[in-house]
Amino acid sequence: MKQMPNLEDYKKAYREFRWEDIEKELDWLGDGKLNIAYEAVDRHLKTSRKNKAAFVFEGKDGAKETYTFFELAKSSSRFANVLADLGAEKGDRVFVFLDRVPELYISVLGTLKIGAVIGPLFSAFGPDAVKDRLMDSEAKVLITSPRLKNKIEEIFNDLPDLEHIIIVNRDRENIELCDGEVSYEGEMAKAEDDFDIVKTSKEDYAVMHYTSGTTGKPKGVVHAHAAIKGHYATAKYVLDLHEDDIYWCTADPGWVTGTSYGIFGPWSNGVTQVIYEGGFNAKKWYSIIEAYRVTVWYTAPTAIRMLMRFGDKLPEKFDLSSLRHACSVGEPLNPEAVVWGEKVIGIPFHDNWWQTETGCILIANYPVQDIKPGSMGRPFPGISPAILDDGYRELPPGREGHLAIKPGWPSMFRTYWKKEDVYDSRFKNGWYITGDKAKMDEDGYFWFVGRADDVINTAGHLVGPFEVESALIEHPAVAEAGVIGKPDPIVMETIKAFVSLKEGFVPSEELKHEIQRFVKKKLSSAAYPREIEFLDTLPKTRSGKIMRRLLKARELGLPEGDTSTLER
Ligand code: ATP
Ligand code: MG
Repeated sequence: MKQMPNLEDYKKAYREFRWEDIEKELDWLGDGKLNIAYEAVDRHLKTSRKNKAAFVFEGKDGAKETYTFFELAKSSSRFANVLADLGAEKGDRVFVFLDRVPELYISVLGTLKIGAVIGPLFSAFGPDAVKDRLMDSEAKVLITSPRLKNKIEEIFNDLPDLEHIIIVNRDRENIELCDGEVSYEGEMAKAEDDFDIVKTSKEDYAVMHYTSGTTGKPKGVVHAHAAIKGHYATAKYVLDLHEDDIYWCTADPGWVTGTSYGIFGPWSNGVTQVIYEGGFNAKKWYSIIEAYRVTVWYTAPTAIRMLMRFGDKLPEKFDLSSLRHACSVGEPLNPEAVVWGEKVIGIPFHDNWWQTETGCILIANYPVQDIKPGSMGRPFPGISPAILDDGYRELPPGREGHLAIKPGWPSMFRTYWKKEDVYDSRFKNGWYITGDKAKMDEDGYFWFVGRADDVINTAGHLVGPFEVESALIEHPAVAEAGVIGKPDPIVMETIKAFVSLKEGFVPSEELKHEIQRFVKKKLSSAAYPREIEFLDTLPKTRSGKIMRRLLKARELGLPEGDTSTLER
């Protein structure tokens, strides 16, 4: 049976929302202490959820495993004991570099239970990306697999702070452990499954995520245990999670979406998750929704656009009728994608906005409100965003400016690791400056304009690459587009577009002109790309965002900068 969002509940929540009430729905550890792992998992053992599936896992090789909340609590307590025996302590940084396998989730929770700070790393990272992050964070423990360790073998001599490597050997390969290495399976077998969860304060550091690196070098964004309040409340009201939902978040825990909404949000709501180890594959993805009867789905615009590229016929071969609610985050979601969802998948995608720094969703299209396709939605209750001018004063509806948030929501980041000055520079005039440009309409919906440092100045017109990209992808031949400004002695910058085509279309001069005319008509003669270059694919971060700064560096023959998050 499909569960419908409870309208009255929502309306009440919007009228009366208070963070204090959310605190009451959580289960504190006494004396104002709280621990994310306890809120997400162990507290359910006191309820009927104890033997409910926390997740069903499907491996790349087809292996299937189910963990109940009880089993997840016990395994993560075991792992907490393993870490404690190794001498890891509250405040230490523990990093995990694993594929999306059950041990990844157990490691995250076990680390939080000892009060250490967890840093999840995306398993597709190469040696430099891993080294940068372990070095910057001065990590003490790394959890990885034989294959992934092999990939980064060269970095270990350069990491004086790294004391222990825990090797997860799921395939029981014949391996020799080196100095400083221990076997996950061996240690887990010896460890007790009871652990006294460290009573962390809400301000103690819990999670560390390096940003996607779309605009610059990734920064270590640090979150405190209080963040769970934001994860819990937003998973409930934005993702609309209910007791009987089967929820699938396609993001990897190496990115903040994969932890806030692939671990903490759903589990603090006691919801069963599907965890699929493999990457994107249109057929496989549809088959997962069908096989597990997924009801709520959280994914990203790039994935949606890739699904669209595979056409409208493919989804017809699958039973997707279990889907009740779908959300998208990470990049602007073009209106066509929203409409496509409704037409082809049976439900529209609800766009929402947040950042690694904000820790949880702050602006969203809600299940109970009308979607405005192309808009990021409205603020979450208790969150006060505004659009500011360059002097950081509030602007009225309809005006473009800096998207800023009144500080103080629970999952706001607490610092950039060892970059306190950069952290401080993000606050102006009593506001947190997000680095994004946006505008708000009369109904209180927010519309993404671009990243503040991406704006193109052409012949005195300020053009956001996003508006040009949006127009480009409305052309039937265009699959993806990335737009940059190129320095020009006369007009300051000219607009250049990099475009990949949908299947069945072939690059040609004629097509270029047709696309240019199309954009010119849609936008203006100032904002159409003077130059178009066809590429097979666009450079993207591993979290799926188009890296315009790389397109620009390549175009201008400049150094490529940090490419550790580039998808290869
Ligand atoms: P870096 O800060 O290293 O450049 P990043 O900003 O891409 O990387 P994230 O924190 O993962 O790192 O991404 C947050 C950003 O993604 C937002 O600031 C915004 O620019 C973009 N974004 C997220 N959701 C949306 C959305 N719904 N619509 C438009 N843009 C979005
Ligand atoms: Mg950012």
